[in-house]
Amino acid sequence: MKFTKHILTAVLLTGLAAGVLSALADDKHKDHKADETKPYPSAKCLISGEALGSMGKPHVLGADGQEIKFCCKNCVKDYEKDKQGYAKKLAQAEANAKPYPLKNCLVTDEGFDHGKPYVFAYEGQQIKLCCKDCLKDFKKEPVKFLEKIAATTLGK
Ligand SMILES: [Zn+2]
Ligand SMILES: [Zn+2]
Repeated sequence: MKFTKHILTAVLLTGLAAGVLSALADDKHKDHKADETKPYPSAKCLISGEALGSMGKPHVLGADGQEIKFCCKNCVKDYEKDKQGYAKKLAQAEANAKPYPLKNCLVTDEGFDHGKPYVFAYEGQQIKLCCKDCLKDFKKEPVKFLEKIAATTLGK
C-alpha cells in the first residue's frame, strides 16, 4: 500500500486528482516487462487516428523495441499488412510531438552535458532524459512526469 500512498501524495501536490487517478487506472494494463521498449509517441491509434481508449482498452504491441498502440484489434491486422508504411507514420508522429520545454532530464533534473540525451515522445509530447536508464522511472509514473511538464509550461 506504500505505493498507493505515494501516488496520493503526488496527486494532492498537483491538485489534479481526478485526471491523474483515471490515467493511473489505465496505466495498470501496460506491460511492465517491456521497460526497454521505446514508448508509443501519440495518444491516438496509429492506424485509425482514433483516441486511444475511445474503443475500450487499447491494444499494445512491443515489437522491435518500439511500443505501438491501437484502438482495437482490427487495426492490428491492418498494421501487419503494411508495417513499413506505418513505421514511417510512427516516426512522423514522434517528429510532430510538442518540443520538450525543459533544459534538464525530466526524471533526474540533470543537465545533458555529459552525453547524448535519450529522446522520445509520449502522448504527443517530446521528452528528453539524461540516459536510457531513466526511461524505467518515467514508465513507472508517466502521468506524474507529464504533469511536471504541464506545470512548467503553465508557469510561463
Ligand atoms: Zn482500431
Ligand atoms: Zn538518466
